[in-house]
Amino acid sequence: MEWETVIGLEVHAQLQTKSKIFSSASTAYGAEPNTQACNVDLALPGVLPVMNQEAARMAVKFGLAIGAKVNKRSVFARKNYFYPDLPKGYQISQFELPIVGLGKMVINIDGKEKVVGITRAHLEEDAGKSLHEDFQGMTGVDLNRAGTPLLEIVSEPDMRSSKEAVAYLKKVHELVRYLEICDGNMQEGSFRCDANVSVRPKGQKEFGTRAELKNINSFRFVEKAIEIEIERQIDVIESGGKVVQETRLYDSVKDTTRSMRSKEEANDYRYFPDPDLPPMVLDDETIEAVRKTLPELPDAKRTRFIKEYGLTNYDAGVLTSTRALADYYESVCSHVKDNAKLAANWVSGELSAFLNKESKDITESPVSAGQLASLLNRIEDQTISGKIAKDVFEAMWASEGSVDEIIDKKGLKQITDSGAIEKIIDDVLAANNVQVEQYKNGQEKVFGFFVGQVMKASKGKANPGQVNEMLKKKLASA
Ligand code: ADP
Ligand code: MG
Repeated sequence: MEWETVIGLEVHAQLQTKSKIFSSASTAYGAEPNTQACNVDLALPGVLPVMNQEAARMAVKFGLAIGAKVNKRSVFARKNYFYPDLPKGYQISQFELPIVGLGKMVINIDGKEKVVGITRAHLEEDAGKSLHEDFQGMTGVDLNRAGTPLLEIVSEPDMRSSKEAVAYLKKVHELVRYLEICDGNMQEGSFRCDANVSVRPKGQKEFGTRAELKNINSFRFVEKAIEIEIERQIDVIESGGKVVQETRLYDSVKDTTRSMRSKEEANDYRYFPDPDLPPMVLDDETIEAVRKTLPELPDAKRTRFIKEYGLTNYDAGVLTSTRALADYYESVCSHVKDNAKLAANWVSGELSAFLNKESKDITESPVSAGQLASLLNRIEDQTISGKIAKDVFEAMWASEGSVDEIIDKKGLKQITDSGAIEKIIDDVLAANNVQVEQYKNGQEKVFGFFVGQVMKASKGKANPGQVNEMLKKKLASA
């Protein structure tokens, strides 16, 4: 039997407000446990939540960016359940009336566009954290995270493969970072995802029963977790069993999913409007003010980069992956004339490799956009070759000085004096009679050997174009 996979994702993006969604406690990551949980977060009797308006504006920003319906009136509801890291006994979330309604995201799969529907995006508070590792036979509870604002972005069950799910997740990740509403840090849990997965016989209309996969904290694990869950469900059905609706945990060490609990239905949560919080009402002015803060969005930027800088789809995608990288690239381009392609190669090549190696962000690059541009200008005006430029770049990275200082100090200036190059070529040919004979007998491959020898003798400084040209002439008359 041929099976079709159906996937819907629930993404939890921590909104990067300074204080919590209903209290003034700090949201900063990494503090001593329970030092950032105030009376509201601890659910002491008599305290009242006060809505953080910045969190609402961030949710609206997301809604506008995906062309969704922004609800001018939304309602906070209590989602009741018991867990040690939830001192109130309920989570404040939004249920029937979320702040963001229907919208969509467009993903790109093998060059083809696909629309993924967004059901809703709602505001809610995060719970605390249970700490199992630090305590023998006990569990610690850290409530620093309790009350951190989350935007839960719920997709329609529109994805049909793990690959589509990852593409969608990356797209959402890129967008929330562009909008500067979430830092996207998956290790710290600021961007998390639950994947709902089901299978059905190909051609069947109704969806199969889904399992919800939790505990997936990287793009790679999303893909793997979905893949093994698909296999598991197909196995269950093909061996005569039934998939049960449940929550499963992904174990990245064992590469399996295991059952955590049977899935509650919404009515088990006894949702009801929170009497402590009035409905949230947004006026047009607020929404329009938020609209004005929208940056150029990733898709628009990519299209513009392709047009304006003549980049390939791929290069434009790499260079617009974050706003900071795109800004850096544009800044380099503004300093190099008509050489956007060279700039693209260097930013996505050499520079990115160095950043990766040291796990640095583009904003931490020791080589500024202006400095990189001066280096590219020295390639362009033939002061140095592209190859030597890599050595200069390495020295710039180590803060050894400006481009020109490094070129001077290390004597890296390109040799373009044809007399000097000719002299080197003559020496190389004289010292390699055997190869000269081979070349004359038709072994053209030896040409590369000569180029290599000449470059080596010049310590990489001879102008490669001139070397090629002069070598050809010399050999023809040798
Ligand atoms: P809950 O709040 O219980 O998690 P929802 O109805 O809000 O349930 O659905 C959550 C997610 O599950 C959504 O992203 C939705 O697209 C997805 N989903 C619903 N039904 C299926 C299904 N049969 N297969 C895969 N995903 C599904
Ligand atoms: Mg869910």
